[in-house]
Amino acid sequence: MALIVHPDIDSLVPYVPGKPIEELQRELGLSRIVKLASNENPLGPSPKAVAAIGPVTGSLHRYPDGGAFRLRTALAERWKVTPDQVLLGNGSDEILGLLARTFLSPADEAVMASETFVIYKMEVTAAHGKSVTVPMKNGRHDLSAMADAITPRTRLLFICNPNNPTGTMVTETEVRALMQRVPEQVVVVFDEAYYEYADAADYADSLAYVKQGRHAIVLRTFSKIYGLAGLRIGYGLTTPEIASYLNRLRPPFNANSVAQEAAIAALGDETHVTRSRSLNREQMAVVRQGLEALGLTPLPSQANFLYFDAGRDGRELFQALLREGVIVRHIEGSMVRVTIGLPEENQMFLAALRNVLEREPIQS
Ligand SMILES: *Cc1c(COP(=O)(O)O)cnc(C)c1O
Repeated sequence: MALIVHPDIDSLVPYVPGKPIEELQRELGLSRIVKLASNENPLGPSPKAVAAIGPVTGSLHRYPDGGAFRLRTALAERWKVTPDQVLLGNGSDEILGLLARTFLSPADEAVMASETFVIYKMEVTAAHGKSVTVPMKNGRHDLSAMADAITPRTRLLFICNPNNPTGTMVTETEVRALMQRVPEQVVVVFDEAYYEYADAADYADSLAYVKQGRHAIVLRTFSKIYGLAGLRIGYGLTTPEIASYLNRLRPPFNANSVAQEAAIAALGDETHVTRSRSLNREQMAVVRQGLEALGLTPLPSQANFLYFDAGRDGRELFQALLREGVIVRHIEGSMVRVTIGLPEENQMFLAALRNVLEREPIQS
């Protein structure tokens, strides 16, 4: 008998993860591979987070604390909210799925930017909702057009700030104007996976809207600046009411015990965060200059990556760089995203790119 799959699920394109570095190394016969594809912290996790993992191993036979009491309390203190406003996820990705399933009935709409985090569309589709994509303006979210796109069927509005893959941000003024126009039945999702990297003076204070009791949620993660992507832990800060609905759907042990302990320690290591931020700022300037010297123009970035038009087929460029031992992210068409790495990794990237471009000058 033929397998019958929900058409919405049938329409999904699976996320294709990169091959493991070790396998690529063997395949391509390279001595060294640099991975600048997933916006990970090149410094790795805080040594304090690593040290916090050891003691957990003795109790791995126990289920984790499903309420994640200590981590939620630490986050609540840190962000001046109450613990019932903190929701943990198996990565903040999981919370995106909870939001879609909680708020979308079939054919309900979710408004998002045209070039943003691909998971939004995937989760909206999986929840049988409809994604309404709003064209960006100069690589930035056009919040006034996004407000125009709201209809009586809109339930979610995603703002990725700073945005992945462009690295651009929306300002306090833009967010304030949007929030004045958003009706009550719309939950505004501020995805701030790169929050800790953003240093612009007019970066929006989205948490203020949660504190005012607006229907909003701020998503943050331990996967990026905290360097714990492999442990899968992220969180949402929202109203107690929204948290209570999401908690009905949340798998009870979604935040594992190792991740909870490492996250508590990571949160307490401000030095590591500061060092990571400084390295990123300094090296982003180096990579930007290197790209500009090659005739490329990356967009302004408030995150830990740069996004640029390669002026040629991005997939071919990706493959050519791979043969040089550098993994970047091909987004679409001629657009490429590169994560800021350690100084020597960035030099390897720029040298590889120079080699590839010298062989095949920009066509356009
Ligand atoms: C990396 C990322 C996330 C979350 O990652 P998790 O590892 O699931 O916490 C969320 N949103 C954006 C835009 C990201 O780039």
